[in-house]
Amino acid sequence: MNGDCLFCKIVAGTIPSKPLHEDAELIVIPDINPQAPLHALVIPRTHIPTLNDMTADHEALVGRMFRRAAALAKERGFADRGYRTVFNTNREAGQSVFHIHLHVLGGRFFSWPPG
Ligand code: 5GP
Ligand code: ZN
Repeated sequence: MNGDCLFCKIVAGTIPSKPLHEDAELIVIPDINPQAPLHALVIPRTHIPTLNDMTADHEALVGRMFRRAAALAKERGFADRGYRTVFNTNREAGQSVFHIHLHVLGGRFFSWPPG
């Protein structure tokens, strides 16, 4: 737990949220500023600031983040239509919360290359 971290506070319940899913390792919440009809954040309970801080110890955890994203997309009917999963890392990618989170976006067409 990092006392200055927004997502640690959400994980701890200090800041209330309405999780779409919770388990021992992950919490999934709707993004406060959704960029698509489905825009959720898959957040590990463990504080890892950026993907650069991921170690071999986190491999199973990050794998579970992706499987949870796929499960959510399937639940919402986007598995076959398509959806996007995104990690933003540091300034040029637009990371604004420094506790890793996997964006899961679905329900519209996404351009490539991304903006
Ligand atoms: P990043 O820019 O770091 O990749 O993504 C951070 C995301 O967190 C943004 O999409 C932003 O809208 C979302 N966000 C920021 N503050 C909150 C909050 O208090 N609650 C929720 N649910 N999402 C938040
Ligand atoms: Zn944190």
